[in-house]
Amino acid sequence: MLEDTKAFLSSPLGSFINNQWVLRDDAAISEIIDPCTTETIASVQRGTEADLNAAVDAANEAFPAWSALSADERAGHLHRLADALEANFDTIAEIETLDVGKTITNTKGFDIPFGVDCLRYFADLSKTLPTDTELDIKDMEARIHRVPYGVCGFIFPWNFPYNLLLWGIVPALAAGNTVVIKPAELTPLSTLFFAKLAEAAELPAGVLNVVTGSGSVIGNAMCNHPKMKRVSFTGSSEVGKQIGATCGGNLIPCKLELGGKGAAVVFEDADLDLAAEQLSAAITFNTGQVCCTATRWIVHESVADAFTQKVTDLLKAVKIGHGLQEDTGMGPMASEKQRQTVVDYLQKGQAQGATALLAGECLRPEGCEKGYFMSPSLLTGDIDNICFKEEIFGPSAYLTTFTDEADAMKQVHSIEYGLANSVFTQDMERANRVANNMAAGNNWINAHNVFAYGLPYGGVNLSGLGGGVNSPETYYDYLRPQTVARPL
Ligand code: NAP
Ligand code: MG
Repeated sequence: MLEDTKAFLSSPLGSFINNQWVLRDDAAISEIIDPCTTETIASVQRGTEADLNAAVDAANEAFPAWSALSADERAGHLHRLADALEANFDTIAEIETLDVGKTITNTKGFDIPFGVDCLRYFADLSKTLPTDTELDIKDMEARIHRVPYGVCGFIFPWNFPYNLLLWGIVPALAAGNTVVIKPAELTPLSTLFFAKLAEAAELPAGVLNVVTGSGSVIGNAMCNHPKMKRVSFTGSSEVGKQIGATCGGNLIPCKLELGGKGAAVVFEDADLDLAAEQLSAAITFNTGQVCCTATRWIVHESVADAFTQKVTDLLKAVKIGHGLQEDTGMGPMASEKQRQTVVDYLQKGQAQGATALLAGECLRPEGCEKGYFMSPSLLTGDIDNICFKEEIFGPSAYLTTFTDEADAMKQVHSIEYGLANSVFTQDMERANRVANNMAAGNNWINAHNVFAYGLPYGGVNLSGLGGGVNSPETYYDYLRPQTVARPL
């Protein structure tokens, strides 16, 4: 472990409010566990409702000065944060791996660099996108003038703590809002490390605040705070509905980024090696704890056997182990609770008649005898099965076969999730038609899990409401339009 990681993990950790660390001798503690070893790696003091109130007050007081800065000045702060992340690249990658269990190859190759890019993308975008739009209306001089909302609250899940943090807060900050963040209690470390970098990079006090603790206390208080001007939630559809209802009751605008159960449709002319490679990666990337991943594999009946052979060969070859080992292909589940959820789904699915083409088993890789490890699984059966219909959130997929395009589309649309799907075929006319017709925020061709800045990402139906991330639209999500008009 790096010296900087050790120093951070052993330091006192708690909420970060108005550029102060809130630490108390009598605070309740969340023990943070390395899911590879089950050892406690850090202790984080839980915030209280009073801390949440103090954080909102600090963000509210910081708002006038932060929003009055020019876009260039705010962009300067965001670039300095990106520089700080780059300077601490290995440390933050290690912290994220230890906290979530994800592989160091992924944190160094995806999570951390993509977070740095997020800061630079929105910093540069905010300098070029106009806040005012002239309106062409007869006998009137009129325009839309966009202003930041004020204090924006963010609630995040445990699966991509660092990435989702940046995807969430950076456009809001670039647009001139101040933020209060509630990280998942299970995985708060990279958020707290980021707050330390913000402190060191002299982000003005109160612009970025983090309150640790549970969703039912801190998250709920956030959605009920009278000074909260906007809430963004990323997490399960079930909790998202509750948050939508609470925010709705208080007339706080909110956006919801929710769960998924992505479909991948593999046609008879698909490059099966590519499909097998993309889809095996889809359920082993972050140990399948990925909202947008493909877990319903809908394969043309004529190639189902060949595809199954290829994909199960790939899945069996994945090296499971400690996330910090460079050759690990898949780490553990992030918690014992999540592993048990997967085990329960596999049992229920098979009790309902599904067959296991690959049985997912709890296992103990050498050197990690206690971690929450599990091997990939692939079930097959009919589409009424619980494992086809519900989000499992683990290294598990469900394979069905189809006869023609209409049959495939019927299967895709047999459930209400609408986050991300993919289609595999060499016929681009068919690929684009199917991609256009699948109801989801994101549909990919001959690939799954495709992200880029400038490519809007979000969900519909059970998978989301009110916006997305990663694009100019996201920046405008954090600016409230008001009109200015003068009759001529
Ligand atoms: P979750 O159980 O919904 O929790 C998400 C966050 O909400 C956590 O910080 C949680 O706090 C908090 N929370 C829980 N109850 C709350 C309440 N009543 N009021 C306010 N906040 C509350 O989700 P998860 O288990 O952490 O994450 C997995 C889910 O997230 C999956 O469904 C996945 O698909 C989804 N997800 C979606 C996206 C996307 O972009 N669409 C991205 C990633 C993940 P504590 O847990 O700390 O108590
Ligand atoms: Mg949960």
